[in-house]
Amino acid sequence: MFKLSKKLQALPPYLFLEIDKAKRKARAEGRDIIDLGIGDPDQPTPKYIIEALYQASQDPTNHRYALDQGMPALRRSIEGWYKRRFNVNLNPDSEILPLIGSKEGIAHFPLAFLNQGDFFFFFDPCYPPYKGGKILAGGKPYLMPLLEKNDFLPDLKKIPLSARRKAKIIFVNYPNNPTSATAEKSFYKELIDFAHKNKLIIISDLAYSEMCYDGYKPTSMLELDGARDVVIEFHSLSKTYNMTGWRIGWACGNEKLVAALAKVKSNIDSGIFSAIQLAGIAALEGPQDYVSNMCSLYQERRDVLLSGLNSLGWKANRLKATFYVWIKVPQAKDSIKFAAHILDKANIVVTPGIGFGKYGEGYIRMALTVDKKRIIEAIDRLRNI
Ligand SMILES: *Cc1c(COP(=O)(O)O)cnc(C)c1O
Repeated sequence: MFKLSKKLQALPPYLFLEIDKAKRKARAEGRDIIDLGIGDPDQPTPKYIIEALYQASQDPTNHRYALDQGMPALRRSIEGWYKRRFNVNLNPDSEILPLIGSKEGIAHFPLAFLNQGDFFFFFDPCYPPYKGGKILAGGKPYLMPLLEKNDFLPDLKKIPLSARRKAKIIFVNYPNNPTSATAEKSFYKELIDFAHKNKLIIISDLAYSEMCYDGYKPTSMLELDGARDVVIEFHSLSKTYNMTGWRIGWACGNEKLVAALAKVKSNIDSGIFSAIQLAGIAALEGPQDYVSNMCSLYQERRDVLLSGLNSLGWKANRLKATFYVWIKVPQAKDSIKFAAHILDKANIVVTPGIGFGKYGEGYIRMALTVDKKRIIEAIDRLRNI
């Protein structure tokens, strides 16, 4: 009786649903599952952040609607973190907007700029929810393949003039989910130049800026000349402080872009729970050794997993950032079938590459979200499939 809107119908089906169903079934059967599928930190939120939430939640002034723009104190705290981390100055009143998680902001942003039929550029493979927000806003996706031979960076020169003319937004995400690729300043320079020439907005997702190894530190695009005219950057406390369930992040950059997102949001939500904002301040201003300890933990797991995969003859990139290992497996020509086979034979959950787009086919993704002992066990099981 009720027909779905054309926009909703246009959304691609959620390919991970099948794997999810199979995983739940295996668990219900009492099988000992090793879950390398989800990109969600396995360690708890640091105690000092939980304590800040507890304290703040006792104060009735925090029980009311929060301001749409976020607490001034939180924006100043983000300003300070940004200055310390990237040596970039942001105006906390006009260039920073706290969000209910960065996914929320990224999904809502296109409503501010896309008209029906406008193109947007997006990566394939990419984290699926991001395409959805733009399609819901009426945009038409223009796919940029991320290929191994280009270090999983898009080849901007290959984008035809006709597409450039119709496009309004280009979306980038480095360090990248799912490929774990990273981008250097030279690429960002080329991208900023491309955006200026073609009048494009750059959305840059830096969810993994703090999850990095071997001394590597990701760059913010806002460190570069000309970026402030065209860039809006999205940050998240989710992965950095093990706060995925708390829902807090922020957008920053060009003030017109930030103001437009604030206007969209003021019609949709009523801000972040104030106690969570105060906990966010505690996270950003507290001792950061928890973050570096988490990086050491992931780095250790990475080394164990990579040497195990190597012993299986599976080819994986040596990631400098994120907690995703992107693996090319000869047997995974049909990655959904291969993931199902692994679950069936080894009780291990992995994510099939095609779930991130057609250029993800032939790959599987493993997340470093189980401890070392389980990773070693997983490799042992995979030896026998
Ligand atoms: C996990 C993740 C995020 C974080 O989203 P939040 O809504 O802030 O929890 C953003 N982008 C990518 C690519 C991610 O993988």
